[in-house]
Amino acid sequence: MAGFISIPDVAHYWLTNGRVPLCFLAESVGLEPIAALQAFPHQEELVAVDIEVQAGAIARILPAGQAAVAACPAVNLNQGLIWPCFVDMHTHLDKGHTWPRCPNPDGTFIGALETVRQDHSNWQPDDLYQRMEFGLKCSYAHGTQAIRTHLDSFGPLGATNFTVFDHLRRQWQDRLTLQAVCLVSLDYFLTPEGESLAQLVAEFGGILGGVAYMNEDIVAQLDRVFMLAKRYGLDLDFHTDESLNPDDITLRYVAEAALRHDFQGAITCGHCCSLSVQSAETVEKTLSLVKAANIGIVSLPMCNLYLQDRQRNRTPRYRGVTILHEIHHQGIRVALSSDNCRDPFYAYGDHDGLDVFKQSVRIGHLDRPFDHWPLSLTSRPAELMGLTGVGTLVPGSSANLICFKARSLNELVARAQCDRVVLRQGQSIDTTLPDYSELDAWVF
Ligand SMILES: [Zn+2]
Repeated sequence: MAGFISIPDVAHYWLTNGRVPLCFLAESVGLEPIAALQAFPHQEELVAVDIEVQAGAIARILPAGQAAVAACPAVNLNQGLIWPCFVDMHTHLDKGHTWPRCPNPDGTFIGALETVRQDHSNWQPDDLYQRMEFGLKCSYAHGTQAIRTHLDSFGPLGATNFTVFDHLRRQWQDRLTLQAVCLVSLDYFLTPEGESLAQLVAEFGGILGGVAYMNEDIVAQLDRVFMLAKRYGLDLDFHTDESLNPDDITLRYVAEAALRHDFQGAITCGHCCSLSVQSAETVEKTLSLVKAANIGIVSLPMCNLYLQDRQRNRTPRYRGVTILHEIHHQGIRVALSSDNCRDPFYAYGDHDGLDVFKQSVRIGHLDRPFDHWPLSLTSRPAELMGLTGVGTLVPGSSANLICFKARSLNELVARAQCDRVVLRQGQSIDTTLPDYSELDAWVF
């Protein structure tokens, strides 16, 4: 679908009469929210702005009506929203779009694990390349600028997966910032192959990671992972407590390991579903350690909604999403991300940051007010990924922006926004999505 505005093909122009969620503006002009509100025309949580784009970057952000439009072209947004491009910090591009050939038989977590394991024999380089690239095309067209993916890395699959990923990373380097995390269960690191995997990850400039499961060796497993991360200078990204078992506290074990090792790199933990079924005392103890260890949390609401509390012929009572508000109120950075896409772990999705935001708002009551939550798909994951000047509207940063026809966060969340205009370095891109038939040769 064509965009609702057309951007002039010039290096210098203004976007006028736009609306920006206050959290973006307070951050971009370095003001406290109250001061930002006083300086700019505003209504509820939105601020009226004119944005000057010059040489691919955001040059200035002024209160609406103050643009120097006599000097260069201007595009009137008619009160439409402007967001920074999305940052999707937890995905599984290697599993993506396998659904047609390996649907989850019963929709459960165990069903997903077993189905993917059986599908691994199909993961030849060409197959991985086509499916991963399809995911990148969707992400880019929807307005994402940076992606972190986990890559299944048991045995020889690790080298295959990282090699294909690296090829795509180079081909897409002008369009998407890509990071990769190895994915194995943590017992793998107690085998000799664990060190080889850490070496492989270091060679490809990746992040060390894995799935933490409760077991009697969890402390030894984490000690080994932290030791390898230090040895090879790697950041860490774990899957923790993706269950509704209140006894699952691997997040706490990760935090304790980080403090025990005085780890200085970045640590992210994903899922943390079991926090939602634990006592206040247990939660408090874990979150205080997470805060002390400076761990960032990434929540994957759509995948959790799909897998958690699923039993045949029974309606789910618990929806699996972690305690987003409580984590934020502890002063812990919490990001939102898409996770799996059209694979046994999540049957649906389209790599669309807006879809993640909209669903998260509804699932987690991230409205009334929306407040800081738009940062969870933009600057906050960028920070956790170590990307500077990404996902913000700070003058001087690249004009990687999404313009929506929606004039309020209510209109944004209510409709699909298929006519959004995505700007990369100030120029609008083709937002046509790839056709599913591109994958017919691979997944049927
Ligand atoms: Zn995941």
